[in-house]
Amino acid sequence: MDVSDSAPLLQLALRVEHDIFLVRQRGREVAAVVGLEHQDQVRMATALSEVARDLLRTSGGADVTFRLTDDADVGRRQLRVDLAPVTPLPDGRYEPESAAVARLVDKLGVVTGKGDTVVMMSRRVPVAAPTLTPERLAEIRAELARSAPGSAVDELAAQNQQLIAALDEVRSQRDELAVLNDELQETNRGVMALYNQLTEELEETNRGVVALYAELDEKSAQLRAASESKSRFLANVSHELRAPVTAIMGLGRLLADSASDPLTAEQARQVGLIRSSAADLLALVNELLDLAKAESGRIEPDWTEVDLRPVFGQLRGTLRALATGPDVALVVEEPPTPATLRTDEVLLGQVLRNLLHNGLKFTQRGEVRLRARREGDRWLLSVSDTGPGIPEELHGRIFEEFYQVPGATRVGGTGLGLPYARRLVTLLGGTLELASEPGRGSTFTVTLPVGGA
Ligand code: ADP
Repeated sequence: MDVSDSAPLLQLALRVEHDIFLVRQRGREVAAVVGLEHQDQVRMATALSEVARDLLRTSGGADVTFRLTDDADVGRRQLRVDLAPVTPLPDGRYEPESAAVARLVDKLGVVTGKGDTVVMMSRRVPVAAPTLTPERLAEIRAELARSAPGSAVDELAAQNQQLIAALDEVRSQRDELAVLNDELQETNRGVMALYNQLTEELEETNRGVVALYAELDEKSAQLRAASESKSRFLANVSHELRAPVTAIMGLGRLLADSASDPLTAEQARQVGLIRSSAADLLALVNELLDLAKAESGRIEPDWTEVDLRPVFGQLRGTLRALATGPDVALVVEEPPTPATLRTDEVLLGQVLRNLLHNGLKFTQRGEVRLRARREGDRWLLSVSDTGPGIPEELHGRIFEEFYQVPGATRVGGTGLGLPYARRLVTLLGGTLELASEPGRGSTFTVTLPVGGA
């Protein structure tokens, strides 16, 4: 709705000092009847009296018009007051004496309507205010026209009342603020206490972790020392045993020699037993020595470019003699070319021989097969047999020193072959894995990097 079209609710003339009171008082009345809240009525009235005072001084007064209009910006009703100065505003501009005045209303400024420059201020009517029908507006107009304005003293008294109310309001707000402040401080103290407690707990936990780590370090040092002394002990004992066992074997050979005095059949049998026991003992001592050396890190692989074909050829030749049973075949497949990798030829030969040897030892029927397969940058060398197989739960244990699957001992052995083989494969930068099931044979797979460790 255009401002000029809406009929004025009230019009006043501001000409003398006394009129300021009048404008203020009537302004509050109008604000009240259109539905502004009490606080807003006072704000509007105060702003009006301030602007009225300014205009009386600068322009010799003004014609004051109150209207109820629509605020197009927010689609709400607003109480709008136009103050048309008696003489034009200096430079056509208006600045309130006190900047705070503008904050008392929604809008305060200069508008130009029908060639005149007018000071305008407005305040929005709350949504909850009762709707004003055209009839009610007409009534209001009539009421306002009828009601006689009070005296300056009346207005002063009213103003005093408002001031007291405002002071009260300020005081209660200050009290509320103090309460809030207290609460905030309380919360702050709580948060600080919690923070301190958490920090303490964290430090405590930290200290615990540090202590635990120290203990762990100490334990692993002890473990390392124990393992080293075990290896040293094994190496020393087996080394010391080798000489006397070799001597026993030599003496046995001498006794059985045809150039020596002839033995009775029984003596010859017993000497034979001594020799074979000594041979077993020497094998055990040698294996122990190998393992101890591997564990103590005294084996240094001799890295060279190795061709698998001659390695396989040699294994085929030396192990064929072991595959004595007519029911077991030793199959060494030809490796796919180029069959080279960087590794230690002797150690690799030892590992494969050990696995093939086991396969032949434990397989009664079928075959033992060595096969090489290239997968990316790795070689997979597998020894599979059609032997008894190994139960899943023992797959870890057979790599432990001296462990032998119960019932399999009758074929001889020491239980040191597999741990030694795995040790060597690790030294070569690879892994030794087992896939096996009872009744389905076993497959030991050595995986080695093509480029060495
Ligand atoms: P050894 O062969 O001297 O007993 P190993 O460490 O080589 O010692 O093997 C440990 C045990 O693992 C063997 O005693 C045997 O019970 C089991 N084993 C090893 N290889 C095979 C195989 N190919 N088939 C079945 N069992 C096997």
